[in-house]
This record gives sequence, C-alpha cells and structure tokens, in this order.
Amino acid sequence: MDLKIHKLESFGTLDGPGLRGVIFLSGCHKSCRYCHNADSWSLSGGEVWSEDALYDWIMRNKSYYLINGGITFSGGEPLLQAKALIGLCHRLKKEGFHIAIDTASVTMNQDVEDLLKIIDLIILDIKHVNPVTFLWLTGEMMEITINFLEILINRKLDYWIRQVIVEGVNDTIEELKILEKKTYSRYRRRIELIPHHNMGRHKWPIDSIETRLDADETSEQTMDRLNQALLFFSKKDNTNETIKRPMEI
Ligand code: SF4
Repeated sequence: MDLKIHKLESFGTLDGPGLRGVIFLSGCHKSCRYCHNADSWSLSGGEVWSEDALYDWIMRNKSYYLINGGITFSGGEPLLQAKALIGLCHRLKKEGFHIAIDTASVTMNQDVEDLLKIIDLIILDIKHVNPVTFLWLTGEMMEITINFLEILINRKLDYWIRQVIVEGVNDTIEELKILEKKTYSRYRRRIELIPHHNMGRHKWPIDSIETRLDADETSEQTMDRLNQALLFFSKKDNTNETIKRPMEI
C-alpha cells in the first residue's frame, strides 16, 4: 500500500533508542493548540510513497540502524495510516529492525491492533492529565489516550511516555506526579519531558490562529525543576532497557 509522508529523517536521535530512521507520516485528527507540526495535519497533504520505495529508503542505511537503533514512525499521527504500515513493518521485522511508533493515540481499530503485534516500542505523547484541560488543549477526549495506554499494558508492550511542557498549562509538580502515577506499569521504560518551543508557529493555519496557544518557550529552570522531580518520582522506572520483540505472525 502507498503511504502519505510528511518528511523523512535519515539519522534521528530524539525519537526512540539509538540512531534511527524517522518517518513522519501525514495526517493528524487532533488539533493541539501548541502544535509545531500543523503542516502535517492534512491526510491529503504530504508526498505519496509506495511501500517498496520506503522500504528501499530504509534499507540504504540498514547497517547503521541495526547497531542499536531502528526505525520510528512519527507524524502527524502515524496510526491513522496503520493499515498501510502493517505490510512494511512485517518486512522490516524480518530484517531485524527495532520498530517504534511515536503516537498521541487513536481510537482502537483492527488495523491498529494488528500493527501493535509487530512493533517493539510505543512512544505515547500524553498532552495533559486533567480531562478538561486535555479536551481544551487537543480537541479530543482524554479517555481515548487512557484506553490506548491500557491496551498497551494489557499487551505487555514496551512504552515511553512523552509530554510537551508548556508553562502555565502543565508545569506543576502535582500534574507531573499524576502523570507518573497514571502511566506507571512494568512496561513503561521512561518518561520524557520536552520543552515547548515556538518554531512551528508560522505553520498554523490562518483560520485557526485565534484558537492557538501562543505560549512562551519553556525555560530551562522549569525543565530542570520538573526533571528533578521526575527523577524522584520514577525511581522504579528502568530508562535504559530496550527490548526487541520477536515478530508475531
Ligand atoms: S498530536 Fe501532534 S501533530 Fe497532532 S495536533 Fe497534536 S501536536 Fe500536532
């Protein structure tokens, strides 16, 4: 099947363990007020790539990715193209790749279920821990994300939790404590806090400017304060472990 691609990064180090090929897929159903990838929202945007072409692009750097990295599908929301990813991921698993999906969650469907059987790691972006603020921030119910997390845990699938920190929105120790507690299971491998930045502001659609969150970039002091608290909260968290799962056929 063809895939809609927003952009490709040959050697990424921020989206999963080790050195990775990162494939940013087009399309996102959320509308996060601080999104810095608004140009990836449209499913009809991006470039059409055949599965074979994308496979060949990955294989060019296979030897680097296999050292201790892999492939990450990000977006946009990569799970909107779950059906098209299944065939490609099967081929990649046969070649020994570690596969990660960087997602903000979707409502579960059969394609996503099937895809979860093949991949090694989910990087789950949880925007907020308060359901009301979550809805305001993303336009979507928090329940969908929490249900998605429960499914990961039931499937014993390794996951990382990510949260973009926006000052005045989700920068309190109390909120962080809830995030740590709500997302804990023996399969959680780390929590990553990411500072909000404004570099994607110019990509916001003109007709949505009024609903955007024009927050300042998150300060180093805020990040230090939260990361130190996180170290204290998540002593149980094994942040170094990366498990490659055998392929389920
Ligand atoms: S889920 Fe990600 S890509 Fe989609 S709107 Fe939110 S921040 Fe943007």
